[in-house]
Amino acid sequence: MEHAKGGAPILEVDGVVKEFGGLRAVDGCSFTVESGTITGLIGPNGAGKSTLFNLITGVLRASAGRVCFNGRAIDGKPPHAIARLGLARTFQIPGELTRMTTLENLMLVPGGQGGESLWRAWLLPRRVRAEEARIRERALDLLETLGLTLVRNELAGNLSAGQKKLLELGRALMAGPALVLLDEPGAGVNPTLMATLTARIRQLREERGVTFLIIEHDMELVMGLCDPVIVMANGKTLAQGTPAEVQANPLVLEAYLGGAA
Ligand code: ADP
Ligand code: MG
Repeated sequence: MEHAKGGAPILEVDGVVKEFGGLRAVDGCSFTVESGTITGLIGPNGAGKSTLFNLITGVLRASAGRVCFNGRAIDGKPPHAIARLGLARTFQIPGELTRMTTLENLMLVPGGQGGESLWRAWLLPRRVRAEEARIRERALDLLETLGLTLVRNELAGNLSAGQKKLLELGRALMAGPALVLLDEPGAGVNPTLMATLTARIRQLREERGVTFLIIEHDMELVMGLCDPVIVMANGKTLAQGTPAEVQANPLVLEAYLGGAA
């Protein structure tokens, strides 16, 4: 297993708290994600992982604490502003997009393309056409990377579950993010497609320098793909280290056994 590349911190979570009524779902969580890593975030069910993702991406507002992306505080900013700074997450393909092709799904990702505005198209048709050509080029390039070229003209609704996962990843990548958050990318994906997905994630890190923070419950997947691994339990960071270090940490075993009880 290679070691984390250890670039500058791209994401800093500092003392973040989220309360739902009397429940502290996230309870003073702190950790740092280094640029260029594929960082894993694991922990028993209910540890607060998904809530933390919602806090980082602005879907939820923290009760306390600070989140910095590339050295800049982003807590309290709305999701679209955070996405525009280059922090992306995957979303299920919305219903209306299942009736569009794979390629169209990527080309429709909002991200500053001028074609959205009819006024712009009318006033600056040549510039808008040139932008559309660039977007198409980027979408086709991404489809190639994701191994979806053959289904580019297929309706998204007709794709297999695994191909949809790859398309969701593609939509997150269209705007050229620096950091991508994935919440259980392996859920419901068969082993063959899972191998494809992990290979693509590695390739995107190598070729495009994308940093990943991945919540995953499939230990085999985490141990093979992620370095470092952060362990959350009861809303806090319990441990952080290489996959081997985390696996050998008695606190981690205890948290999982306690969580399963
Ligand atoms: P994980 O993703 O690690 O399994 P979650 O972040 O989904 O954990 O949940 C952490 C805790 O917060 C759980 O006890 C869960 O029931 C609770 N929780 C999550 N979202 C909400 C919500 N919107 N309202 C109330 N409680 C919530
Ligand atoms: Mg979750």
